[in-house]
Amino acid sequence: MSTLLVSQRNFESHVTPAGHPERPDRLRAIEEALGRERFAGLIRKDAPSGDLQLAELVHGPRYLDGLRRARPAEGVGQIDEDTFISSGSLDAAGTALGAGLLALEAVALGQARNAFCAIRPPGHHAEIDRPMGFCLVNTIAIVAREAQRKYGAERVAIVDFDVHHGNGTQDIFQADGSVFYASSHQMPLYPGTGAPGETGMGNVVNAALPGGSDGLAMQEAYEALILPALEAFAPDFLLISAGFDADYRDPLAGLNWRPADFAWLTGKLMEVADRRCEGRIVSLLEGGYDRNGLATGVAAHVGALMGFGAG
Ligand SMILES: [Zn+2]
Repeated sequence: MSTLLVSQRNFESHVTPAGHPERPDRLRAIEEALGRERFAGLIRKDAPSGDLQLAELVHGPRYLDGLRRARPAEGVGQIDEDTFISSGSLDAAGTALGAGLLALEAVALGQARNAFCAIRPPGHHAEIDRPMGFCLVNTIAIVAREAQRKYGAERVAIVDFDVHHGNGTQDIFQADGSVFYASSHQMPLYPGTGAPGETGMGNVVNAALPGGSDGLAMQEAYEALILPALEAFAPDFLLISAGFDADYRDPLAGLNWRPADFAWLTGKLMEVADRRCEGRIVSLLEGGYDRNGLATGVAAHVGALMGFGAG
């Protein structure tokens, strides 16, 4: 069995203002990186459009209506200081969700060992009642709920290695012991949440990393905190919020991870998944704003998912 790559043909439908870091070119960089010969063994599929009504599984009842009202007929509308919505944004968010659900199905049915979804806009900052931080819909949270609802997973784990804390995912699941949420993130940094004392009902683990710290600090945090907790939770399914903005080149943050660090971390998560849930991993792209940092990070992550090993 191999690794599935789900791509999103309409990634350019979500338009942000000129100069905004979350831009369509991010996905072009990933396409180029994963187009290399080394990745010829990937199963490749295009994302179908997903049912955005499923957002009601994790967001408030008026959430989608609010997004539809905020969506301009043309041009780009503003939701908050750094979150924007264009006429095609909900189409893009719908296929981002479709990608996650297709990946979930393929891995749940054993058609692929694991999967990576190259999607935008990202989702982990979107809270129960509030889109924010470039995020419109919390895609990974919906995928987690569908893993439970449709495929009978009782316990779903989400590990989030984006450099920013996934406040939205934590908001959605902090009072639900059937979902485990662990995040490593730079602190202090946007959005300001994710202190180690935020533990939900024992199902939330936050590893705060100081600005300027490198892959060694990351490895220590995972070995001491996140990996043992993940192992003990014993998920039926492992989802990854894969952000690549902890890369040393990223303009929005100040950690110093190298591509090999993303490979190391992916390998460690796979070891737990192999022991606990037959290797079932679905990874969804979140942040990553330096073109080369994103491309090399994704290549390291997907290479590890394919079993190439670290480095
Ligand atoms: Zn981020």
